[in-house]
Amino acid sequence: MVTGDLAQLIGAGQLLVVFTGAGISTESGIPDFRSPGGRWSRYQPVTIQEFLTSDDARRRYWEYKRAAWPAIATAQPNAGHRAIAELERRGQLQALITQNIDGLHTLAGSSPERLLELHGTERTVTCLTCAARSDRTEVQTRLDAGEAVPQCPCGGWLKPATVSFGQSLAADVLERAFQHAQSCAAFLAVGSSLVVTPAAYLPQQAKRSGAWLGILNREPTPLDSLADWICRERAGEVLSEALG
Ligand code: NAD
Repeated sequence: MVTGDLAQLIGAGQLLVVFTGAGISTESGIPDFRSPGGRWSRYQPVTIQEFLTSDDARRRYWEYKRAAWPAIATAQPNAGHRAIAELERRGQLQALITQNIDGLHTLAGSSPERLLELHGTERTVTCLTCAARSDRTEVQTRLDAGEAVPQCPCGGWLKPATVSFGQSLAADVLERAFQHAQSCAAFLAVGSSLVVTPAAYLPQQAKRSGAWLGILNREPTPLDSLADWICRERAGEVLSEALG
């Protein structure tokens, strides 16, 4: 049985902090960044500074976002997202910290009280000038109708409510994530290459504070040597099996 220690911990009623990355959503059909053939190899990301200063960068940014949206809009939560929602229903989820912007944890039933979206969400669009929020689907309709770079009625640039390269993570969200990492007894990282900082510091923080650390990721990560339990299988299958 690959689930080993994790299944035992869950069976014993252990409270967990779960940290997820793009790898938990690949079984829902959303590609990750760093798997071979992932988006990284095909897309040169636009930084927030480029977005703010260059027409060409804004156009390239929205062209990519327009192409990437249908996969997110049509994706359904998979067994992994559902298992984490079930963990919460059982009262065993201290916090769910995610790097993902796809909103699938919420669709699976995870509650906003336990969820920390470190990199924001693709499902909402904000105006960089007046901070008005709008639904991503409406903006997609405008893009499909030919708008290259959507603007707010106030004249400001619209951008999904995600953290772009060069942009800082929301300080309050990050602080709460570190508090959970520091105070938890068990920390499980799922589907993350654990190379993006500061998020990748979270498992290290948990370990330093004495927590059990589990890493469930198809490929090796730089933090594997710290882990008490490692599993290199598919996240959805392993999580649902571990819940029994
Ligand atoms: P990553 O792409 O760096 O790493 C994903 C890891 O998941 C890889 O190491 C891969 O081996 C593993 N993986 C893939 N499918 C798996 C599966 N079925 N079971 C177990 N492991 C699996 O992802 P990251 O660490 O989250 O960093 C990527 C960044 O890009 C994040 O900051 C995130 O915001 C963003 N991103 C988000 C999404 C999304 O919201 N779904 C998708 C792509 C990228």
